[in-house]
Amino acid sequence: MITKAEVEELLSSYDVSSLKVSTICSHSALQIFHGAKQLGFKTLGVTTPERRFVYEAFPLATPDKFIEVSEFKHMLDRWVQERLRAENAVIIPHGSFVEYLGPTEILERLRVPVFGNRAVLEWEGDRVKQRTWFKEAGLKTPRVFEDPSEVDCRVFVKFPGAKGGRGYFTAGSSEEVEARLEEAVRKGLIRDVREAYIQEFIPGVRYYFHYFYSPLAEGGLRVCGGRLELMSMDKRIEPIDEAYRGLPDVPEEFFDYTVTGNQPLVLRESLLKDALKMGARVVEASKRLFPPGIIGPFCLETIYHPDRGFTVFEVSARIVAGTNLYPSGSPYTVYLFEEPMSTGKRIAVELKMAVEKDRLREVVY
Ligand code: AMP
Repeated sequence: MITKAEVEELLSSYDVSSLKVSTICSHSALQIFHGAKQLGFKTLGVTTPERRFVYEAFPLATPDKFIEVSEFKHMLDRWVQERLRAENAVIIPHGSFVEYLGPTEILERLRVPVFGNRAVLEWEGDRVKQRTWFKEAGLKTPRVFEDPSEVDCRVFVKFPGAKGGRGYFTAGSSEEVEARLEEAVRKGLIRDVREAYIQEFIPGVRYYFHYFYSPLAEGGLRVCGGRLELMSMDKRIEPIDEAYRGLPDVPEEFFDYTVTGNQPLVLRESLLKDALKMGARVVEASKRLFPPGIIGPFCLETIYHPDRGFTVFEVSARIVAGTNLYPSGSPYTVYLFEEPMSTGKRIAVELKMAVEKDRLREVVY
């Protein structure tokens, strides 16, 4: 694994007065480039040739320079990494960046400074580690069943590496889980029934909270010496959400959990205390488990039910696509900042502050 000391060594050859904010042209890159440009940073997009026009189609979010690769995984090629370092690039991780490169490859092979703490990718990508993190944070999580025979309630079944919920299903008994898993193997969704992840089905309303943890900012909600900001929230839209339209005879295709978009929402104000406490505990636990812990944007995926409170079923330890709803701020950022603030811009604010305070090493790994 590339050590923090190695990244600090790379940084020592950087001209920090001309850092370039860089990422893969996908996911939330428009927001990241747009925010960085507003703060006066130069920007660099790693793109495939066929996507370049998308990023040229939005001039205020077009990166100043592009590096073209035939496939995103080639970002790890030596020539690309050398070019990124020569450009003083700091990479902003997002969902597609982690998806295309893979957490292990990023940890083992990417010798370019990354915003935040890259060690978090190991904790985000591994379901067992994620549960350890939630437990350490004292969060309520769905029960997990090691084997279909243990199922004693309605369950939610997930597959590894599933693209945004594809193929997930719910079932009400051991027999049903077993039958559906065998079908999933036949369809090639999984190779072995043991690959499935069986969770208790949680009824309620889904809230995806977008946080930003800054070790540098002052005021606000103090957590471990830094500031925790609740930037915004969204709800993902999945075909299952529209299932009611087919009643009384719901076509099978509606029972699909693939994420297709995001909707804005606000939380009943009396529940904000829970949202803030959950975020704070996740930060505190991360500091104990993998110091210096999580830095920058992260998201908690939760389900709220009035009788059960919030149950957390997933953490994303980087900017999430749901923040794309708020390129000029959210109903919460107006109470945190004097100016319009997206999560992409917030990252640039943190980088700028780190450079000015000579504390870049604290927010980059
Ligand atoms: P995930 O891949 O974990 O983000 O889950 C994708 C979608 O599946 C979520 O957006 C929820 O709609 C649904 N989901 C995941 N876990 C559960 C659960 N334990 N109970 C009910 N719904 C869930």
